[in-house]
Amino acid sequence: MRRVSVWARMLKLERTTIVEDVSFDDAANAIVVHVRPNKHAEGRCGECGRRASWYDRGDGRRRWRALDLGPLRAYLEAEAPRVQCPDHGVIVAQVPWARHAAGFTYAFEDMVSWLAAHCSKSAVQDLMRIAWRSVGRVVTRVVADAQREHDRFANLARIGIDEISYKRRQYYLTVVVDHDTGRLIWAAPGRSEATLRKFFDELGEERSYRITVVTADAADWIRRVVKERCPAAEICLDPFHIVSWATDALDEVRRLVWNDARFMGQKALAKELKDARFALWKNPEDLSERQKGRLALIARTNAPLYRAYLLKEKLRQVFQLPPDQAMVLLDNWIAWAQRSRLKPFQELARKIRSHRKGIENSLRRDLSNAIVESANTKIRLLTRVAFGFHSPMALIALAMLSLGGCCPALPHD
Ligand SMILES: [Zn+2]
Repeated sequence: MRRVSVWARMLKLERTTIVEDVSFDDAANAIVVHVRPNKHAEGRCGECGRRASWYDRGDGRRRWRALDLGPLRAYLEAEAPRVQCPDHGVIVAQVPWARHAAGFTYAFEDMVSWLAAHCSKSAVQDLMRIAWRSVGRVVTRVVADAQREHDRFANLARIGIDEISYKRRQYYLTVVVDHDTGRLIWAAPGRSEATLRKFFDELGEERSYRITVVTADAADWIRRVVKERCPAAEICLDPFHIVSWATDALDEVRRLVWNDARFMGQKALAKELKDARFALWKNPEDLSERQKGRLALIARTNAPLYRAYLLKEKLRQVFQLPPDQAMVLLDNWIAWAQRSRLKPFQELARKIRSHRKGIENSLRRDLSNAIVESANTKIRLLTRVAFGFHSPMALIALAMLSLGGCCPALPHD
């Protein structure tokens, strides 16, 4: 085997890259491999890859960081001329060993991305000897490439939409998950109708019409956009959300009663109510003996609060029944809540009635938003890892590597 082809293999270079020479840079303590594109690969636009006419030498020779060779850093060095593309104007020519505008080779960037999806932040930085901010840019490029090659929207039928907040609710992402593959397929900064419309714009009209089911929480902006862009889709509202609304309503009643008791100077009652907080929240089967006692006391002494507790419990039980029975009981529940003389539950009854269809769809399809919620939990962890990245797009790319099936293979695969 010729010496140059050993170098080409070691650095995972394509046949379109010609190795001219290898030298050692003492100052940088690094191996420098001098390369050039072959006839077929040279003179192409860095953006679109089409043939373009020569413009000038650009900034002359430059280097790209390649995979380390043993303990040594390695660089490719080549001319980086500019060409004139009919579409992209004067632009640095494409090279077969690196992505446009990247300072690293393909193999190096794939390795960094794989590590970012599998290892801790400090492991990636220390092992690859690269700044975390650069990792953000690397994963953004790698994911963009993967998404150009694979159609993540193919055969999309059942999706879940949700929002997540990070950095103390300063920033939001809207995320879309495929229920059938369990993969994160799209995310964008923001939470608004305009944000979600971007997803359907990318999906295109024809494929939007083929969406059959959308699970979401009760956010109006999601419902509005879904109705507008995929009129054929059933919107499913996760029962888990409904139960959490009932827990909120119960807490509101408890607070009202507690405030009254304090205002009237009933110290003992106020304390009792405060202590009962967890007993009220918990499912009855999980109550300790002490908590059961507290609940019994409330049943004897505080009718409105006990009524609120029963309403919450009843609603939770509704969603454990088969769909037909559940819907009958849900309607009974709405009527009961409306008569309860408890304002938070009367409001809740109205809210549930307006979402009745979505709840029924969800029960009949037996489709919860659990997949979406779990993706959300993982993305929220990643927001901490992504701290130090410059742009939310790098956070999204990191999420796509781990949860969207965009992680590249290791260079030795
Ligand atoms: Zn071009």
